[in-house]
Amino acid sequence: MHLYDRQTIKVYNSLSGKKEIFTPINPGHIGMYVCGPTVYSNVHLGNCRTFMSFDMIFRYFKHLGYKVRYVRNITDAGHLVDDAEDGEDKITKKARLEQLEPMEVVQRYTVDFHTILEKFNFLPPSIEPTATGHIIEQIEIIKDILQKGYAYEMNGSVYFDVVKFNESNEYGKLSGRKLEDMIANTRELTAQDEKKSPQDFALWKRAEPQHIMRWPSPWGDGFPGWHLECTAMSTKYLGKTFDIHGGGMDLKFPHHECEIAQAEASNGKSPVKYWLHANMLTLNGKKMAKSTGNSILPGEIFSGENNILSKAFSPSMVRFFMMQAHYTSILDISNDALLASEKGFNKLMEGIGHLDSLPVGDDTDFDVKQWKRSCYNAMNDDFNTPILIANLFEGIKHINLIKEGKETITSADKDLLKGTLQNFVFDVLGLENRTGTDADTEKLSGVVELLIQLRKEARENKDFATSDKIRDQLAELGIQLKDGKEGTTFSVS
Ligand SMILES: [Zn+2]
Repeated sequence: MHLYDRQTIKVYNSLSGKKEIFTPINPGHIGMYVCGPTVYSNVHLGNCRTFMSFDMIFRYFKHLGYKVRYVRNITDAGHLVDDAEDGEDKITKKARLEQLEPMEVVQRYTVDFHTILEKFNFLPPSIEPTATGHIIEQIEIIKDILQKGYAYEMNGSVYFDVVKFNESNEYGKLSGRKLEDMIANTRELTAQDEKKSPQDFALWKRAEPQHIMRWPSPWGDGFPGWHLECTAMSTKYLGKTFDIHGGGMDLKFPHHECEIAQAEASNGKSPVKYWLHANMLTLNGKKMAKSTGNSILPGEIFSGENNILSKAFSPSMVRFFMMQAHYTSILDISNDALLASEKGFNKLMEGIGHLDSLPVGDDTDFDVKQWKRSCYNAMNDDFNTPILIANLFEGIKHINLIKEGKETITSADKDLLKGTLQNFVFDVLGLENRTGTDADTEKLSGVVELLIQLRKEARENKDFATSDKIRDQLAELGIQLKDGKEGTTFSVS
């Protein structure tokens, strides 16, 4: 018997527009694909929220005992946002501006992405495939779609024939659009356009001579269209039909709609059972945009180096803040909201800190089993983390009452309370009992460096009593000094 056998999970499926009971295709196993970042700049805070939502979902499934294969790709091939746009992709543009090889851009921002996610305590996905590592698979899918008559070649580029596809399938079913309306609302094609219909999208684009990121193909040198990599990588690692496809709400159209069309044209069946979309993050009530200055990077929040927030906030605190909103709701980040959330975060961690020393008695004044049930119920209802957090605070309230001697708890119930809190706070929500920000770490380093300097001076003056005292007392605080050829270094345990 697995923990998941006792839960009925409901998820909001964007495809049906309804909450549905979640039943994996293969019992006990879950295949989940999430569209990853395009690595041409520092990871956006809004994207962190999307990936964090799926990290929480991944964590909950694992907690329930499911074997989850979670695939989150890295888009490193560079794609054009708009097929009609001639010219550079984002990666090539950045490479030119920073005078780097495109793959240097990719490497730099992949490292940044991983560093930030690690600070936020993300679990690594099971597979993190790259688009450039799957060019062959993408070419094979194009050949297949061409052969099935849902695509056409034009001057070295290959386009998906949306009108043809829509004759036997339904293009627009995920985003609730009708092809006729889309056609009626778009501009006429100009004579230079290679596409038969404005809705057609590129599967392969011919590379102009100056285009750096290019690969040979049966249609000449070029590069894949921006929707194709996800179809290639999800099919390769999760099969023709898999359980969950996730991503930001902004990817629903056209990206995910095109993924469905490609997979249906190629495999003849719908690729995904449940489509999950995470909502966006706004800053001070407005859309985040670098151009308007209404933008903040995760690293700037952790260091406090920004002119939007009054202080630095730790990654775990920001994670708690994000988990206080449901993943399908818009969340607004502001200084006041973070300050309020920080109080809650500290209260939660303090409460957990009291657990070990909590006295036990002959009976319990509240129903711990029922409370535990309500925590699972919250998560089973489309991963409702705000309700879960409200329940966790209910547990904290009782901890404080027991501590004050106003309530009692039995030893067995205390264990249950502790185990449940730890499961949800640390394993499922992925929080860490660390309040330190990058700014705090920097201050600590400064203080320790100062003490190392004082110790050095004491030793030079043969005042070994003082130098030993500094070393020993730092060791008691968990800070070890190590003397080496290059001077003294320290580590924190
Ligand atoms: Zn994708």
